[in-house]
Amino acid sequence: MKKISYVLPVYNEGESIDRFYTDLRRALAKVRDRYTFELIFVDDGSRDDSLERMKAIHAADPDVKVVSFSRNFGHQIAITAGIDLSTGDATIVMDTDLQDPPEVSLELIERWEQGYDVVYAQRRTRGDTFFKRWTAHAYYRLLNRLSDVEIPRDTGDFRLMDAQVTAELRRFREKNRFVRGLVASLGFRQTAVAFDRPNRFAGKTNYPLKKMVKLAYDGVTSFSTQPLQLITRLGFLAFLASVVGIAYALVVKIFFPEEAVSGWTMTIIVILLMGGIQMLTLGIVGTYVGRIYSEVQQRPLYIVSEVLQHGGEAVGHPASAATQTAARPMSRTD
Ligand code: UDP
Ligand code: MG
Repeated sequence: MKKISYVLPVYNEGESIDRFYTDLRRALAKVRDRYTFELIFVDDGSRDDSLERMKAIHAADPDVKVVSFSRNFGHQIAITAGIDLSTGDATIVMDTDLQDPPEVSLELIERWEQGYDVVYAQRRTRGDTFFKRWTAHAYYRLLNRLSDVEIPRDTGDFRLMDAQVTAELRRFREKNRFVRGLVASLGFRQTAVAFDRPNRFAGKTNYPLKKMVKLAYDGVTSFSTQPLQLITRLGFLAFLASVVGIAYALVVKIFFPEEAVSGWTMTIIVILLMGGIQMLTLGIVGTYVGRIYSEVQQRPLYIVSEVLQHGGEAVGHPASAATQTAARPMSRTD
């Protein structure tokens, strides 16, 4: 039987965790004869009774694993930890506030069985406030315009990934993570399942505006260096403007000397020239910073989906080779 892993981030969900667990179990019971399960709860440093409740769930259910963080590291890190630990043939990431309905995860599994590697749940409607819907919509438009990877709209982190995909995802170790973007950038066969997103069952969102802005910022900065390129463009504009300004100052000085205040021409030329040059050089520095940034992210150069070859020596899976070298950079003495 195939094994399905569930990665379940929890932060102060004491009021909904029991209900979530029973709902999930009820949904899973329907396919119990076809799959085995692994439910990985990641407690992201909850300050309420979430951990006690998870421990109780763990004590009664051999499929449940609980990982508890020493403090709050944030949602993206919590799901990363869960994915790192998952051992299933497919891994499903979902919220534990019942905004991601357990029933829908069964549909994700069905699509996976049809041959898709990534199945993301896409919100047809959402019970969020107008403000959140609107900002989310505008944000994904902006993000897709700025970045090379096409990040599907109206999706969160609720998705299923094949074991091959999670193996690749584990190679991305960047700290400021935008997991849904990383998954989108991996490629493979991806598809969507539409669902209606209800309101949260209890409690309040753990994504206040501050965290949302941080996530949004991470999304843009980890998939685009266009803000840096903007500096270069601004630099050119500033430089052009300074040339025009300097020409103007010279014309005034030469043809209308009675209008020119003494010392004005030199002052204006120096200010404009320095401003233009500074902006331009900042752009050049920015270009290098952008490159350094993409180098330090240490992302895999490519993702292999299949290797076809005849007999002979085995081609080691590039993923494992890369992980090995990345894991022991210090041991290279040659
Ligand atoms: N979460 C987490 N760490 C955090 C914030 C949230 O693990 O710092 C979890 C939370 O328990 C929930 C999921 O991430 O399962 C989504 O959070 P939330 O429902 O607050 O976000 P929203 O649905 O409002 O965007
Ligand atoms: Mg929620």
